[in-house]
Amino acid sequence: MCTVKALSSQTMTSSPLRTLYDLPVSNNGARCRIILYKKEIPSSEVAVVSPMELGGLKTQEYLKVNPQGKMPAMVCTETGLNIAESDTICRYILSVYKDGPSFQPENPKSNLISRLHDMYLTTIQNCMYKAGPFGNFGTRKDAIAEYVKQMNVIESLIDPDDGMYLCGNEISLADATVFPSMIFAAHMLPKFDIEPPLPPNLNKWYNQLKNTDPVFEKVHDEVMSGLNAWEEKNRWHPILGAGWRDEEPATIFDKLMSGDIPATVVKQDDKIFAFKDINPAAPAHVLVIPKDRSGLTRLGKATEEHTEILGRLLVAAAEISKDKELGFGDGARIVINDGPDGGQEVPHLHVHVLGGRSMQWPPG
Ligand code: 5GP
Repeated sequence: MCTVKALSSQTMTSSPLRTLYDLPVSNNGARCRIILYKKEIPSSEVAVVSPMELGGLKTQEYLKVNPQGKMPAMVCTETGLNIAESDTICRYILSVYKDGPSFQPENPKSNLISRLHDMYLTTIQNCMYKAGPFGNFGTRKDAIAEYVKQMNVIESLIDPDDGMYLCGNEISLADATVFPSMIFAAHMLPKFDIEPPLPPNLNKWYNQLKNTDPVFEKVHDEVMSGLNAWEEKNRWHPILGAGWRDEEPATIFDKLMSGDIPATVVKQDDKIFAFKDINPAAPAHVLVIPKDRSGLTRLGKATEEHTEILGRLLVAAAEISKDKELGFGDGARIVINDGPDGGQEVPHLHVHVLGGRSMQWPPG
């Protein structure tokens, strides 16, 4: 069993050969630390230092080390090379420090799992804890669904009878790469009602490493210390799904969407629903609403979370306003009544698209 040194800014008498700028909560940095701890590389060789030592991630000093202002980054005093990408840092450490586990068994599955992780999970990992954007996914919900789907792709590559590690009985880069992300997933996904958060093979592997291997246990505790600190600072409060939920009662618009009350549907897709207003205020009068209200009882409740759906509503309104068959002419009045002073009656955000006559200004 190896001894594990504390992760902290370390005081040294002479400069280390290499400095890893990283913090305990850093997901990608954690994979580098797993390798450092497993190989018992001393801080005189690789010192793990907080980016705050250079003033923080966005300072000129740090940006010289990593122009993206992200963690981790490694400065190699010997070569003068800065490596600002976790997988490359790991492979560099493995190429320099041969003692201990190689992390590179002759099994292509290790590289495959690591690459799948970095291409499809890392790129949207922030959907669990940050404001968007979430890669190619417009909403947090969509990104989380994709995250779960991609976890299942890795799940399908695991043989539960194969051994304690992802690629059998030998630890590999895949274990170091995937484990830190699963700490986030196990902690965060239940907040979004995803239970159980990890698929069975990944769950078994994750818990076994966390509970029986002191290095993985240590890294788990490091990441969790960061997550718990965020928890205490109410970091999840502004996040739809994790911190707050739309618990307002359903409105008549839900009945129109379900068909319980008939509506003249003009247009709909996976995200929006448009129908003729029952009490038209102009020759052409269509309402466009988000199918999933997600807290948008009124426009005033919009947050960064809603950027995509707000765009979708306006694009749909633009298309509808050009539809001559609906009675629109050249242009339209697009209105969102917001709250009591705005004259809003139905607490489910809706965009009025009015046309077929010349509008007056100012409105009443
Ligand atoms: P608000 O005043 O909240 O901005 O607009 C609500 C709109 O919903 C009104 O223009 C109203 O005529 C319309 N509306 C209310 N109930 C129904 C309904 O059952 N069917 C349809 N098609 N429109 C409705």
